[in-house]
Amino acid sequence: MVETAMKILVVEDEAKTASNLKRGLEESGFVIDVAENGEDGSYLAYTGNYDLIVLDVMLPGRDGWTVMADLRRHGVHTPVLFLTARDAVHDRVKGLELGADDYLVKPFAFSELLARVRTILRRGAAARKATVLKVADLEVDLERHRATRAGGPLDLTPKEFLMLSLLMRRTGDVLSRPLIAEQVWDINFDCDSNVVDVHMRRLRSKVDDPYTAKLIHTVRGIGYVLEERT
Ligand code: CA
Repeated sequence: MVETAMKILVVEDEAKTASNLKRGLEESGFVIDVAENGEDGSYLAYTGNYDLIVLDVMLPGRDGWTVMADLRRHGVHTPVLFLTARDAVHDRVKGLELGADDYLVKPFAFSELLARVRTILRRGAAARKATVLKVADLEVDLERHRATRAGGPLDLTPKEFLMLSLLMRRTGDVLSRPLIAEQVWDINFDCDSNVVDVHMRRLRSKVDDPYTAKLIHTVRGIGYVLEERT
Protein backbone atom coordinates (compact mmCIF):
# COMPACT_ATOMS: atom_id res chain seq x y z
CA MET A 1 0.00 0.00 0.00
CA VAL A 2 1.26 3.44 -0.89
CA GLU A 3 1.68 5.73 2.11
CA THR A 4 -0.21 8.94 1.44
CA ALA A 5 0.55 12.19 3.21
CA MET A 6 -1.20 12.70 6.54
CA LYS A 7 -3.79 15.48 6.51
CA ILE A 8 -3.94 17.94 9.37
CA LEU A 9 -6.55 20.61 10.00
CA VAL A 10 -5.32 23.70 11.85
CA VAL A 11 -8.07 25.78 13.48
CA GLU A 12 -6.45 29.03 14.60
CA ASP A 13 -7.65 32.61 14.36
CA GLU A 14 -4.27 34.29 14.87
CA ALA A 15 -2.99 34.72 11.31
CA LYS A 16 0.70 34.66 12.18
CA THR A 17 0.47 31.50 14.29
CA ALA A 18 -1.70 29.84 11.65
CA SER A 19 0.68 30.61 8.79
CA ASN A 20 3.72 29.52 10.82
CA LEU A 21 2.04 26.24 11.66
CA LYS A 22 0.98 25.71 8.07
CA ARG A 23 4.44 26.36 6.68
CA GLY A 24 6.23 24.31 9.32
CA LEU A 25 3.93 21.32 9.02
CA GLU A 26 3.99 21.40 5.24
CA GLU A 27 7.78 21.44 5.31
CA SER A 28 7.53 18.35 7.53
CA GLY A 29 5.56 16.55 4.85
CA PHE A 30 1.96 17.01 6.01
CA VAL A 31 -0.99 18.29 4.01
CA ILE A 32 -2.52 21.26 5.84
CA ASP A 33 -5.85 23.04 5.76
CA VAL A 34 -6.42 26.11 7.89
CA ALA A 35 -9.72 27.38 9.34
CA GLU A 36 -9.85 30.80 11.00
CA ASN A 37 -12.87 30.19 13.20
CA GLY A 38 -14.82 27.43 14.91
CA GLU A 39 -17.64 27.29 12.38
CA ASP A 40 -15.33 26.76 9.40
CA GLY A 41 -13.25 24.38 11.51
CA SER A 42 -16.28 22.24 12.34
CA TYR A 43 -17.38 22.12 8.75
CA LEU A 44 -13.95 21.04 7.50
CA ALA A 45 -13.56 18.52 10.33
CA TYR A 46 -16.78 16.78 9.27
CA THR A 47 -16.00 16.69 5.61
CA GLY A 48 -12.24 16.60 5.22
CA ASN A 49 -11.09 13.19 6.51
CA TYR A 50 -8.24 14.54 8.63
CA ASP A 51 -5.71 12.47 10.53
CA LEU A 52 -5.37 15.13 13.20
CA ILE A 53 -6.89 18.46 14.21
CA VAL A 54 -4.78 21.17 15.84
CA LEU A 55 -7.45 23.18 17.62
CA ASP A 56 -7.02 26.54 19.29
CA VAL A 57 -9.23 26.93 22.37
CA MET A 58 -9.82 30.66 22.15
CA LEU A 59 -11.59 31.27 18.86
CA PRO A 60 -14.06 33.96 17.86
CA GLY A 61 -17.63 32.64 17.87
CA ARG A 62 -17.65 28.94 18.53
CA ASP A 63 -14.67 28.09 20.76
CA GLY A 64 -12.42 25.05 20.62
CA TRP A 65 -14.25 23.21 23.43
CA THR A 66 -17.55 23.54 21.62
CA VAL A 67 -16.07 22.43 18.30
CA MET A 68 -14.55 19.35 19.91
CA ALA A 69 -17.62 18.39 21.96
CA ASP A 70 -19.75 18.71 18.85
CA LEU A 71 -17.46 16.52 16.78
CA ARG A 72 -17.34 13.78 19.41
CA ARG A 73 -21.10 13.86 19.88
CA HIS A 74 -21.48 13.24 16.17
CA GLY A 75 -19.10 10.34 16.11
CA VAL A 76 -16.07 12.10 14.62
CA HIS A 77 -13.08 10.74 16.54
CA THR A 78 -10.26 12.46 14.72
CA PRO A 79 -7.43 13.03 17.24
CA VAL A 80 -7.29 16.58 18.60
CA LEU A 81 -4.29 18.53 19.86
CA PHE A 82 -5.48 21.58 21.77
CA LEU A 83 -3.62 24.87 21.78
CA THR A 84 -4.25 27.28 24.59
CA ALA A 85 -2.70 30.42 25.98
CA ARG A 86 -3.78 29.53 29.46
CA ASP A 87 -1.98 27.00 31.55
CA ALA A 88 -4.86 26.56 33.95
CA VAL A 89 -5.30 23.07 35.34
CA HIS A 90 -9.03 23.14 34.74
CA ASP A 91 -8.45 23.82 31.03
CA ARG A 92 -6.25 20.80 30.73
CA VAL A 93 -8.70 18.62 32.64
CA LYS A 94 -11.60 19.90 30.58
CA GLY A 95 -9.82 19.18 27.31
CA LEU A 96 -8.85 15.67 28.31
CA GLU A 97 -12.34 14.96 29.64
CA LEU A 98 -13.77 16.00 26.29
CA GLY A 99 -11.47 13.51 24.61
CA ALA A 100 -8.54 15.67 23.52
CA ASP A 101 -5.45 13.64 22.72
CA ASP A 102 -2.97 16.22 23.89
CA TYR A 103 -2.57 19.78 24.98
CA LEU A 104 0.01 22.44 24.23
CA VAL A 105 0.38 25.79 25.98
CA LYS A 106 1.19 28.91 23.96
CA PRO A 107 3.75 30.11 23.26
CA PHE A 108 5.37 26.86 22.19
CA ALA A 109 8.37 25.91 20.10
CA PHE A 110 7.43 24.46 16.73
CA SER A 111 9.70 21.47 17.38
CA GLU A 112 7.59 20.70 20.46
CA LEU A 113 4.39 20.83 18.47
CA LEU A 114 5.86 18.62 15.76
CA ALA A 115 6.93 16.04 18.33
CA ARG A 116 3.41 15.96 19.83
CA VAL A 117 1.84 15.69 16.39
CA ARG A 118 4.02 12.74 15.47
CA THR A 119 3.31 10.97 18.75
CA ILE A 120 -0.45 11.33 18.32
CA LEU A 121 -0.34 10.12 14.72
CA ARG A 122 1.80 7.14 15.67
CA ARG A 123 -0.57 6.24 18.50
CA GLY A 124 -3.47 6.59 16.09
CA ALA A 125 -1.86 4.26 13.59
CA ALA A 126 -1.44 1.57 16.27
CA ALA A 127 -5.05 1.89 17.45
CA ARG A 128 -6.41 1.84 13.92
CA LYS A 129 -5.31 -1.71 13.30
CA ALA A 130 -8.13 -2.89 15.56
CA THR A 131 -10.76 -0.56 14.22
CA VAL A 132 -10.88 -1.28 10.51
CA LEU A 133 -13.94 -3.29 9.48
CA LYS A 134 -13.86 -5.15 6.19
CA VAL A 135 -16.48 -6.92 4.09
CA ALA A 136 -15.50 -7.95 0.57
CA ASP A 137 -13.79 -4.85 -0.91
CA LEU A 138 -15.60 -2.45 1.45
CA GLU A 139 -13.58 -1.03 4.34
CA VAL A 140 -14.65 1.21 7.19
CA ASP A 141 -12.02 2.79 9.38
CA LEU A 142 -13.80 3.75 12.59
CA GLU A 143 -10.93 5.77 14.04
CA ARG A 144 -10.17 7.81 10.97
CA HIS A 145 -13.77 8.05 10.00
CA ARG A 146 -13.12 6.84 6.48
CA ALA A 147 -14.84 4.41 4.22
CA THR A 148 -13.47 2.98 0.99
CA ARG A 149 -14.73 0.56 -1.61
CA ALA A 150 -12.32 -1.15 -4.01
CA GLY A 151 -9.68 1.21 -2.61
CA GLY A 152 -11.58 4.36 -3.59
CA PRO A 153 -12.85 6.77 -0.92
CA LEU A 154 -16.60 6.99 -0.28
CA ASP A 155 -17.86 10.50 0.40
CA LEU A 156 -20.35 9.87 3.21
CA THR A 157 -22.24 12.26 5.47
CA PRO A 158 -21.79 11.69 9.25
CA LYS A 159 -25.19 9.91 9.41
CA GLU A 160 -24.38 7.71 6.44
CA PHE A 161 -21.06 6.84 8.01
CA LEU A 162 -22.76 5.89 11.28
CA MET A 163 -25.30 3.79 9.43
CA LEU A 164 -22.62 1.98 7.45
CA SER A 165 -20.52 1.40 10.60
CA LEU A 166 -23.53 -0.15 12.29
CA LEU A 167 -24.23 -2.48 9.35
CA MET A 168 -20.53 -3.41 9.15
CA ARG A 169 -20.23 -4.15 12.87
CA ARG A 170 -23.15 -6.53 12.59
CA THR A 171 -22.42 -8.04 9.21
CA GLY A 172 -24.96 -10.74 8.33
CA ASP A 173 -27.52 -9.60 10.93
CA VAL A 174 -30.82 -8.21 9.70
CA LEU A 175 -31.25 -4.81 11.36
CA SER A 176 -34.74 -3.42 11.75
CA ARG A 177 -35.62 0.16 10.83
CA PRO A 178 -36.41 1.14 14.45
CA LEU A 179 -33.09 -0.29 15.59
CA ILE A 180 -31.19 1.65 12.92
CA ALA A 181 -33.12 4.82 13.77
CA GLU A 182 -32.34 4.43 17.45
CA GLN A 183 -28.65 3.73 16.90
CA VAL A 184 -28.01 6.38 14.28
CA TRP A 185 -30.31 9.20 15.39
CA ASP A 186 -30.40 8.32 19.06
CA ILE A 187 -34.17 8.71 19.18
CA ASN A 188 -37.21 6.55 18.60
CA PHE A 189 -38.68 7.15 15.22
CA ASP A 190 -42.25 6.57 14.42
CA CYS A 191 -42.12 3.23 12.63
CA ASP A 192 -43.95 4.77 9.68
CA SER A 193 -41.13 7.23 9.22
CA ASN A 194 -39.21 6.69 6.03
CA VAL A 195 -36.17 8.58 7.25
CA VAL A 196 -34.16 5.37 7.52
CA ASP A 197 -35.17 4.35 4.00
CA VAL A 198 -34.27 7.73 2.56
CA HIS A 199 -30.83 7.70 4.14
CA MET A 200 -30.28 4.06 3.27
CA ARG A 201 -31.07 4.80 -0.35
CA ARG A 202 -28.44 7.55 -0.39
CA LEU A 203 -25.94 5.29 1.33
CA ARG A 204 -26.53 2.54 -1.20
CA SER A 205 -26.15 4.95 -4.09
CA LYS A 206 -22.60 5.54 -2.88
CA VAL A 207 -21.64 2.13 -1.51
CA ASP A 208 -23.36 -0.21 -3.98
CA ASP A 209 -24.69 1.48 -7.10
CA PRO A 210 -21.33 1.99 -8.84
CA TYR A 211 -20.29 -1.64 -8.19
CA THR A 212 -21.41 -4.98 -9.56
CA ALA A 213 -21.48 -6.87 -6.27
CA LYS A 214 -24.15 -5.42 -3.97
CA LEU A 215 -23.45 -5.58 -0.24
CA ILE A 216 -26.47 -3.87 1.36
CA HIS A 217 -29.71 -5.82 0.97
CA THR A 218 -33.33 -5.05 1.82
CA VAL A 219 -35.17 -7.63 3.88
CA ARG A 220 -38.81 -6.98 3.09
CA GLY A 221 -40.95 -5.96 6.02
CA ILE A 222 -38.00 -5.95 8.40
CA GLY A 223 -35.00 -3.84 7.49
CA TYR A 224 -31.54 -4.19 6.07
CA VAL A 225 -28.54 -6.48 6.13
CA LEU A 226 -25.01 -6.00 4.91
CA GLU A 227 -23.28 -9.13 3.65
CA GLU A 228 -21.39 -10.53 0.71
CA ARG A 229 -23.65 -12.67 -1.46
CA THR A 230 -22.09 -14.75 -4.18
CA1 CA B 1 -6.98 32.19 19.41
